[in-house]
Amino acid sequence: MPADSSARMTTKTTRLAAAAIAAATLCLSPALSAQDNSATADSLAGVAEDALENDPIAWDFVEGITTEVGPRQAGTEAEARGRAWAMEWLRERGFENVADEPFELDTWVPGDVWKARVTTPFAQELIVQPLGNSAATPVGGMEAELVYFPTVDDLRAAPEGSLEGKIAFISHEMRPAQDGSHYGFAGPARWVGAGIAASKGAIATVIKAVGTDHHRNPHTGGTSFPEGIDPIPAAAMSVPDAENLERMFERAGDKPIRLSLELNPRRIGIQKSGNVVGEIVGRNPGLPPVLLACHIDSWWNAPGAFDDGAGCAIVAAAALNAARIGQPLRTIRVLFAGAEETGLWGSKAYSAAHIDEPIAVGLESDFGADRIWRFESNFRGTNADLHSKLAKAVARFGVADSTIVATGGADLNIARDQDAAIIDLQQDGTRYFDLHHTPDDTLDKIDIAQLRQNVAVWTSVVGILANESRAIRTGTPIPSAPAVMDE
Ligand SMILES: [Zn+2]
Repeated sequence: MPADSSARMTTKTTRLAAAAIAAATLCLSPALSAQDNSATADSLAGVAEDALENDPIAWDFVEGITTEVGPRQAGTEAEARGRAWAMEWLRERGFENVADEPFELDTWVPGDVWKARVTTPFAQELIVQPLGNSAATPVGGMEAELVYFPTVDDLRAAPEGSLEGKIAFISHEMRPAQDGSHYGFAGPARWVGAGIAASKGAIATVIKAVGTDHHRNPHTGGTSFPEGIDPIPAAAMSVPDAENLERMFERAGDKPIRLSLELNPRRIGIQKSGNVVGEIVGRNPGLPPVLLACHIDSWWNAPGAFDDGAGCAIVAAAALNAARIGQPLRTIRVLFAGAEETGLWGSKAYSAAHIDEPIAVGLESDFGADRIWRFESNFRGTNADLHSKLAKAVARFGVADSTIVATGGADLNIARDQDAAIIDLQQDGTRYFDLHHTPDDTLDKIDIAQLRQNVAVWTSVVGILANESRAIRTGTPIPSAPAVMDE
């Protein structure tokens, strides 16, 4: 779905607009007093309504990073350029304490030879891309009989050793869903299929891409191999190619289907990545901050507009918008995590580095740019007042309250490790898996009206949290909070 034409402002125009907002955030208004609370709520609602209609910031970020940087594979020079770009963007807009917190990871790159061909009985090419952690085939490729498993459970049921010298083909029936729940159903074909096949003797694995579109775009993504099992070549084929292969099995009868496969991914050893952080510093920096997370890396095959340029755009815009009503009580920190896609390396590194610095609450945006439809927290039972205040603030944007307990996304390891408050703002994922990890994850797929709805909802939530003087999880007073903010 194309963004509307108003989205097609020049980069220069959006930069100027964003710079004006950044300048406004630097002219921070005086500390808020208790009697200002209802005025604060009104101002925040006004800022959120304004974001719904006009927010230029999120689009500027996601348009900028997809245009000026492009794909950002974890551990590569491209990801480093993405971090540098993001730090400059944050500094230009008034974030403080902007930093690149480095960490190292064992790095896999995809290579550039990805060929699959049914050689008999119905010779034709199939479109494939390698899965993260795939081994390479011999140069020139390998050829073997294919064994078809309609589901990963069928593969699990195959006898030990039964795949000796063969290539496994694992399928599934993934369907679009607003909550994206079929990812959990179909995902194991990618996450663990190749490892199970390898443990039963397979020399390679091909899967139906874990996706819901019918374009000839394979969806890549990480796979894993159990301890003691050597990685084998593993590739995803586009959904239409996989369906074609299923029809071949129906028509082939007893005749074996043979596949020739050539892939040249490789490991390039320990490389550097980093987490980009930046802050809107609060009036009381001693209070635990509000942490807003996303990830800066993408797979090599797409500029990562939905996954996750949009997420970083949304959280950064919300932080700036929340500060438009005055310097927040708590610090708002953004975490643009590195190397999420290849194993949550950044999330783990951030938690390890900051585990002794309590955060107040963690939120993550990593599910595209379509509208938010449900609000969840993990403190509905322990801080009902705050939960209900937040739910009311987002209801005007069509967001439903929920009794589901928020658990946070991949980049919120620290929130889980600290047992902190967590909020999940669930986005409409109906078309997310049409694009996820494919070359089609490009800027034109972002609908700016829905992107702005995200920013409006996030602005409302972040603005309330950042001015909350009591402990978010429990609602109890914090001794170091200014007395004026206690009710
Ligand atoms: Zn993501």
